Amino acid sequence: MIEFNNSEHLNEWCKNNKNNGLRIGFVPTMGALHDGHLSLISIAKANNDIVICSIFVNPTQFNEKEDYDKYPVSIKKDKDLLFHEGCDVVFIPNVEAIYPTSKDYNLDIDLGEMAMVLEGKHRPGHFEGVMQVVKRLLEIVVPTVLYLGKKDYQQYSILKKMVGYYQMGIEVAQCPIVREPTGLAMSSRNRRLTEKEGKAALLLSKSLFEIRNNWKLNNPQSLKNQYLEVLSSDPLIEVEYLEIIDAASLMEIKNWTDTESAIACVAAKVGKIRLIDNVTIY
Ligand code: AMP
Repeated sequence: MIEFNNSEHLNEWCKNNKNNGLRIGFVPTMGALHDGHLSLISIAKANNDIVICSIFVNPTQFNEKEDYDKYPVSIKKDKDLLFHEGCDVVFIPNVEAIYPTSKDYNLDIDLGEMAMVLEGKHRPGHFEGVMQVVKRLLEIVVPTVLYLGKKDYQQYSILKKMVGYYQMGIEVAQCPIVREPTGLAMSSRNRRLTEKEGKAALLLSKSLFEIRNNWKLNNPQSLKNQYLEVLSSDPLIEVEYLEIIDAASLMEIKNWTDTESAIACVAAKVGKIRLIDNVTIY
């Protein structure tokens, strides 16, 4: 596995390989890797000649300083995991390598309502930061396919729109959510949960699964209220939102007939740790 830290060197290396007709699969991450990230590497590996993973904790997408400061870092372990998964290149830039001070990284894209709901509503500035960093990374790596997890469904939808808006000519692939055997969606933040919080966190996926299993029995609004109550009954859980949305527009649905595909999404603080998860209902 080759390691790059310099953006120009990686860009040159990638362009050469692309010019030689090789397909590049790209998996951007913030490190503290787990089996969810590794599943993206494995899917990328099966469909491309070269797999590149970036590890960069992007300061511009954090709206809480403490969340950024405490974001878990485990570079050595991450590199071992990537190597064993067969990743070809790891890109570990510092902040200056991604954002040289000479340039302006503000984007002109208007995402409309899609970015104002769910995470966009609760984490002001988050998606502007995510788009900034991913656009920059895509310009450096020039991949054939960008691999994103469904775990961050709104992020996937927004980045897909961004890639289309800037006509980047990159395919965007969505990869399934990898869960612990308990049902908890894998997340780098899970390692910051205490044992008690880890147990409480199971209620998130459990509620989403129950919504999926029972959707025919009730309308979206009643189901949402029912499970908001369930989640709020645990003193360790502070729900930020629980929404049942249309998979295409990300807008909340009032009736099941409003959509061809519905997704239940949740964000909650468990203790001090903010977790998100979602389940496709149909
Ligand atoms: P992150 O390091 O949290 O920025 O995540 C990097 C990529 O891994 C994103 O595309 C995430 O959606 C994806 N990812 C994170 N957790 C999971 C998971 N449990 N299952 C599948 N993909 C995931």
